[in-house]
Amino acid sequence: MGTPVIVLFTQDLRPNDHPALSAALHASPQVVPVFVLEPGLLARAARNRRAHLAEALADLRSGLRERGGDLLLRRGDTATEVGRLARETGARTVHLSAGVTRFAARRLDSLRATGLEVCEHPGLTVVPPGDLTPASGDHYKVFTPYWRAWEGARWREVLPAPEALELPEGLEPGDLPELDGDAEGIGALAPDRQTGGWTMARERLRAWLDEGLADYGDRNDDLPGAATSRLSADLRFGCLSPLEIATAARDLPGGSEYVRQLAWRDFHHQVTAAFPWINTRDYRARDREWRDDRDALAAWKEGRTGVPIVDAGMRQLLQEGFMHNRARMITAAFLTKTLLVHWREGAAHFDAHLTDGDVANEYGNWQWTAGTGNDTRPNRAFNPSRQARRFDPEGVYVRRYVPELAELSGARAHTPWLEGFGEGVEGYPAPIADPGK
Ligand SMILES: Cc1cc2nc3c(=O)[nH]c(=O)nc-3n(C[C@H](O)[C@H](O)[C@H](O)COP(=O)(O)OP(=O)(O)OC[C@H]3O[C@@H](n4cnc5c(N)ncnc54)[C@H](O)[C@@H]3O)c2cc1C
Repeated sequence: MGTPVIVLFTQDLRPNDHPALSAALHASPQVVPVFVLEPGLLARAARNRRAHLAEALADLRSGLRERGGDLLLRRGDTATEVGRLARETGARTVHLSAGVTRFAARRLDSLRATGLEVCEHPGLTVVPPGDLTPASGDHYKVFTPYWRAWEGARWREVLPAPEALELPEGLEPGDLPELDGDAEGIGALAPDRQTGGWTMARERLRAWLDEGLADYGDRNDDLPGAATSRLSADLRFGCLSPLEIATAARDLPGGSEYVRQLAWRDFHHQVTAAFPWINTRDYRARDREWRDDRDALAAWKEGRTGVPIVDAGMRQLLQEGFMHNRARMITAAFLTKTLLVHWREGAAHFDAHLTDGDVANEYGNWQWTAGTGNDTRPNRAFNPSRQARRFDPEGVYVRRYVPELAELSGARAHTPWLEGFGEGVEGYPAPIADPGK
């Protein structure tokens, strides 16, 4: 029997296409899979993400148990807990997927400081950050040249889930985190949030490939159609492998438009790896003048700005812990470019509610929309009225999420201030800023 090796699970909560798990199994028949719940991180996490994490961990534990192994759960500082487990089992090596955030970098340093051999593996993106670099500089700053390089990159093979696992005897499994909406965390649990876990994620992926993908190119901006994959939270927690999705989708009808979005995800990861302050500092300083307008910010958060397309997006977020990409762009642009409120305020609110919220995609996109990030047109306008007419022409999306406007027919739902000869619609506010024409 060889020396056991530890696999530290992080944002890769699946048994298949898991290079760290496969490498560990290659090194030793006895593998110790562990996830460490860090109380400090959990206290700052959205309740939607906490709940999704709890479900994903439960499902991964069942999956590993079915294969003869287990997922051990520990609470505390990751490096301390991994070090303790190494002493208990005699393990000298820990395998994990490489992360891109400052937290991941600190975790790596502390793991190394335990004296264990630490082996990092790909797994969180299709193409690992740093694999593609432009002729000058350490990362791509603009998406289009990145996409060209990404399309031509060689991908590693998708790995199968292990058939059997063996855990050293006598280890305490540890408790799963509670699902309770009252548990510590920020934001409220969304009534219509998506349930997490590898099993459900695979069903969603199968249904998407069979029924949704072919129309993706034509319908991804159709707000009422909600015709996108809704796989972002599964990707956020790694219940699905981005490489597996990209490999399965690439050659199917609709596949090239779809994998382009996965390339956006990779793009923001390689930006974050190179600029890990993406969630706190401007990627490109633009000398923007921000306004401290608490009332406007509060109205935006509640979905009571009086601009129906903005309010619909903001209420979808509260109801589902999710928002359509087009609505994310409209609401984020309204906050940063119309109300002139700092992107950090908006991102903090998204972060408190999005189940798919993560550092690279969330802050990369916020900075892109605010004009401080990777957009080559930082002054790009998002006129809410025009966006509404184009992407929700019949007002269906607005009526779905803003019940006060349910009685207005067709596109009239976008202009409630014209109803009742200037008196507006009862119970719905007048616009707090010019929604444009
Ligand atoms: C202000 C703002 C904030 C955002 N915050 C997040 C976030 O916290 N987490 C997150 O995963 N995405 C974020 N996005 C990107 C995008 O809106 C979501 O990924 C998408 O809406 C998820 O829905 P879907 O899975 O149905 O996407 P699909 O359209 O089906 O796309 C497939 C996958 O591609 C990836 N993807 C799609 N668009 C983008 C993009 N612009 N950038 C990076 N990856 C993308 C996602 O992983 C997504 O699941 C944000 C966008 C904006 C404008």
